[in-house]
This record gives sequence, structure tokens and C-alpha cells, in this order.
Amino acid sequence: MATTSCDVAIVGAGLGGCFLALLLRRRGQRVVVIEQGPSIPSAGADFLKPPGLRVLARHGLAELVERHGLRRDLIRYYHDGEPIRECRFPDGGFLIRPYRELVELIYACCAMEGVEFCFDAAIERVEREGDRIELLTLSDGSRLRADVVVGADGTKSAIRRALDIDQVAMPYDRLLMRVATVPLSASVAQLNRLYFSSGGWLAYLYPLDRDQARVFVGLPPEQDDAVFGGGGASLVDLLRGFVTDSTDAFGSLPAAAWHPIRVSSLRVGAYHKGNAALLGSAAFACHPMTGMGMSYTLYDAEILADVISAAGGDQALLDKLLQARYEPRRQAHRQLIDYGDALATTFHDRRAYLRAFRADLHIYGDEAAPRTTPALQPI
Ligand SMILES: Cc1cc2nc3c(=O)[nH]c(=O)nc-3n(C[C@H](O)[C@H](O)[C@H](O)COP(=O)(O)OP(=O)(O)OC[C@H]3O[C@@H](n4cnc5c(N)ncnc54)[C@H](O)[C@@H]3O)c2cc1C
Repeated sequence: MATTSCDVAIVGAGLGGCFLALLLRRRGQRVVVIEQGPSIPSAGADFLKPPGLRVLARHGLAELVERHGLRRDLIRYYHDGEPIRECRFPDGGFLIRPYRELVELIYACCAMEGVEFCFDAAIERVEREGDRIELLTLSDGSRLRADVVVGADGTKSAIRRALDIDQVAMPYDRLLMRVATVPLSASVAQLNRLYFSSGGWLAYLYPLDRDQARVFVGLPPEQDDAVFGGGGASLVDLLRGFVTDSTDAFGSLPAAAWHPIRVSSLRVGAYHKGNAALLGSAAFACHPMTGMGMSYTLYDAEILADVISAAGGDQALLDKLLQARYEPRRQAHRQLIDYGDALATTFHDRRAYLRAFRADLHIYGDEAAPRTTPALQPI
């Protein structure tokens, strides 16, 4: 089969891969995105927090993603049924938009601007010469040579493996998560509510659009079979013990399709090697309770686009710039991962959770937060 070449090969057409492809294409780079699935991925986040919205705004995409999206500015937290605190997001709050819709919009911009996508094309083989990736062989046998390779291929990244970069993945095994999409009820339309119980359960209910709501349930893994595996325990009865102001949603829960979600944190030893770099979930993963994974990924893609364009194919300069501008992101990610760990391990304990909660990270991420960052507000 023929060997083609490009300036930048991006493996993975999720949010990170598509956004980076768009930024690079706009700077005149020839970009090829390789995606193992038949289309862009559907599983992912729903919340885009203010830092991510600001990144998109810098590239003229804010209006596009906000059209048909839902803006919210308040989350109310409960413990064992009692409201304990609220977190208010200033300046228009955050955006709720299903992951696939968000990525699809960016993908459409990429397609219009001439990014080439190869779907159903997993990476079969990665050939290296020293630290440098020389050739990618795809599952259809075609081969691609690129000056720069970006692994935006998720937590199990084939590019990270090919680069022999160390990784430590820690499953959050005390909290099994399930998610369902159900009809919207009045209480969910009114407010995002996140409930915790001292028995190690959580339930998060929020609107997706004008008709549908998303419900996340987290529970100790040993109870999953009894509740979701036909073991006879009633989900609604168990939720009644700690979900108080969203009971109008209960009617739709028993018949809903509850999908399990595996959640792990991921730390890796380096973000680049030779002519290759890692982006998004290939580089770091934190607990979804932080709600910041996409915002950090978008910001990281901005840095990568700057660095790759500035290097202009010069390998030594690329390495220097990645070291100076991209590797320091590991510190911000580490802080976010630690924060996610703190939330995931304390949520059952009201006092410990409130002590661990950081409104600055929740609202602003690692952007410089104003001195007057609102703490969790008493109700
Ligand atoms: C349950 C859950 C909820 C979350 N909620 C939020 C939230 O509310 N807000 C937020 O900001 N963040 C959230 N996150 C994090 C957010 O989803 C990630 O930060 C973001 O999706 C990262 O995008 P990505 O492009 O790196 O990865 P992905 O979207 O995972 O894309 C990776 C792509 O690479 C492809 N791929 C993998 N291997 C190969 C291969 N060998 N060859 C070719 N293609 C390959 C995959 O098919 C996939 O399309 C959540 C995460 C989870 C798990």
C-alpha cells in the first residue's frame, strides 16, 4: 500500500484531537486525524466550564457551541438528603452540551477547513528510530509518515505505549458509576443537584436539553449487582434515602438503560518524546467530579498548536519548545488529579468533603482565579 505524508498526524478524533487539528490547519499545517471508530466518539463529558469556553471563544467558536447548548450557573450539594452548600459560577456560568454534539461541531469546522480524517483506522504498527516516530501503519495496511505525531487516543493510548512512556492508572474502585438519560422533570429543569450519602452513594441530576435529563448514580461496587444486576434491590428505594428534592424524576428511573462507566485517574511519566506528544486523556485523567477534563484539554491543545507551528518541522526546536511550554502542564494536571482524588474519597463524609472542595479549581481551573473566588456558599 502507498505511504502518504503530512505535517502532523493526530491519533484520536475526540475533543482534543479534533480541536488541535482545527488549530493546526488554520496555521497552514497539513493534518491527518486517524480514528479507530467509525465516527467521532459519543462517550464523554457534558459540562464545559468557563476556562474551556474561554479557549473556544479565543478561536471564534463560542457562539457556535453555545447555540442550542444550555447555560447553568448553580450547583446545589446535598448530604444525606440535606442541602449543604451551593456553588455559583459567575459570568454566565458553564455550558451543558453532550460530548458528541460538541465534538461534532469542531469536527465539522475541521472538515470545512480541509483536515483529512481516516475513520475505522486503528494504529496497527508504530515504527520508531530512536525516540522519533518514523512511520504509522494503519489497520487497512496504509502507511503514514508525519513530521509530528500526537497521541490524542484516550486513556489506553497506543502512541503512549509505542513511546514507552510510563503510566500509573488508578481505578476509583470504591465508587462504581452508572449513567442514564431520562425524560426531563421539573426539579431537574430547575437546578443541578448533586447528592451524596454517608453510605457511599452519589446521584447527580441535570438537564441535557429541553426534553432530557442525565442521571449519574455512584454506588459501592458490591451493591451494583443487587441494584442493576437483577438482584432485587430497588434503585428508587435506595435513592429515597438521600435524594430529597428530585423525587419527581424517580418515575422514569427503573425503566432507564443504566450504562456502567469505568473511571480511573491516570498519571504519565512524560508528555512528549522525540517528535511525538500526548494530549487529553492520553496524557492525564482525573475524576469526572472535577468537571475540568475538557477545559484543560482544550487549553493544552492551544499550547501544542503554538509549539508545533513555531517549530516548523525543526526537531530540535520542537523538543525544546515542548519541554519548555508543554511539559509544565503536568503540574496543573497533577493538581487536578489530586483534587479529583480528594473529592472521590471524601464525598461520603460531609465535613471532609467541604474541606476538600475548592471553588477556585471548580470554577476557574488553573487559570488565575480572582482574589474574591466565591467559596461554597451556605444556602
Ligand atoms: C464519565 C466521565 C465524565 C466526564 N465529565 C466531564 C465533564 O463534565 N467536563 C469535563 O470537562 N470533562 C469531563 N470528563 C473528561 C473528558 O471527557 C475528557 O477530558 C475528554 O473527553 C478528553 O478528550 P480526548 O480527546 O482526550 O479523548 P477521547 O474523547 O477519549 O478521544 C479519544 C479518541 O481516540 C480514539 N482512539 C483510541 N485508540 C485509538 C487507536 N489506537 N487508533 C485510533 N484511534 C484511537 C478513540 O476511539 C476516541 O475517539 C469526563 C470523563 C468521564 C470518563
